[in-house]
Amino acid sequence: MIDDILTMIPGPTPVHQRILRALSSPTTSHVAPSFVDVFKSCLANVLQIFESETAQPFVVAGGGTLAMEMALVNLITPGDRILILSQGYFGDRFGELASAFGMEYELVQSEWGQAIPAEELECRLQNNSYAAVTITHVDTATGTCAPAEEYCDLLRDRDELVILDGVCATGGISEPFDKWNLDVLLTAPQKAFGAPPGLAVIAFSQRAMDKRSNLGDVPAYYADILRWLPIMDNPSKYYSTPCVNEIVALHEATKLILEEGLETRFKRHHQIAKAFRVGLAALGMEVFTDESCLSDTLSLISYPSAVEDVAFRTELASRGVIVAGGLGPLAGKIFRLGHMGNIGVAEVNHTLDAIEKTLISLGINVESGCAVSAAASHLQW
Ligand code: PMP
Repeated sequence: MIDDILTMIPGPTPVHQRILRALSSPTTSHVAPSFVDVFKSCLANVLQIFESETAQPFVVAGGGTLAMEMALVNLITPGDRILILSQGYFGDRFGELASAFGMEYELVQSEWGQAIPAEELECRLQNNSYAAVTITHVDTATGTCAPAEEYCDLLRDRDELVILDGVCATGGISEPFDKWNLDVLLTAPQKAFGAPPGLAVIAFSQRAMDKRSNLGDVPAYYADILRWLPIMDNPSKYYSTPCVNEIVALHEATKLILEEGLETRFKRHHQIAKAFRVGLAALGMEVFTDESCLSDTLSLISYPSAVEDVAFRTELASRGVIVAGGLGPLAGKIFRLGHMGNIGVAEVNHTLDAIEKTLISLGINVESGCAVSAAASHLQW
């Protein structure tokens, strides 16, 4: 996947040739039997990747934010109170969405780069009840991977619906829907699925579907899952024209994931994350996020004092590798390196080599070849 430019940001991630070919296949009618079969198979594959036998999947043109909106607007009524566990910018977004629909919320925020300890959730649950709890599995602004399984254990056998934002995790880190007793898992194709952006991918538990049915009208039309349900059951029906090519591409991405196998894929993500961190440490670059809550899908790398953000990213881009800058209070202090989707040894080595050459050209004294050789022992899975 190394063409002229290697896009190593935390989404969109590099798109495999097989997915690109699928994307560029001739656009068919949205009710053509061949497309209907692909759509059905895509939904079934999504469910397999979500590790669920029973959830109801939806794939709708939009993005991760639409999926977040669909989760709230279909399950929470104005005046209901939800608990938001936020480890950064994207966790906070649930609060903005709740406000937009007149929902009440309690926002628990960690310091950026730290996770909210499960004990904090336990304490809130002892004294309160909520309509739902939102969890951002990996916050893309802070690189924090939440202890989602521990949270879910605390929420088991309670009335709160459990909503997991897997946008920066699904397909790269395990999120077993049934085992964790999730009510909603929402994601988007442009990160660990390695497909182009353009879709909201989301599944609801039976309990959540029942809640939606009992609510009657909700303040949504396009985002109303009851309007989409007949299409997910039978894609030859019409509600709003599905984005045929993106769905064909997502289908190919899900096939790649299942061919690789979930266990192998998660292991690969874990090893690549390690390889990058070890390689960058050899160049004197440290990870920003606390060691206790690192993510296998992206890393936030602090700049050494002699390295300036824009100069670094511009020089790196001239060597064909794009990384993302820091958001909010981290702007200028760190860069964000995505390492998820369908990347492998070649992409890791190419990126480390380009970063090393960038540092050398900025006058930093590093030993040539040290990053790639430090990473090498981790690049097996
Ligand atoms: N949640 C998380 C964790 C994200 O990283 C993002 C996007 N970076 C979103 C939600 C929103 O997704 P989108 O940009 O596709 O609307």
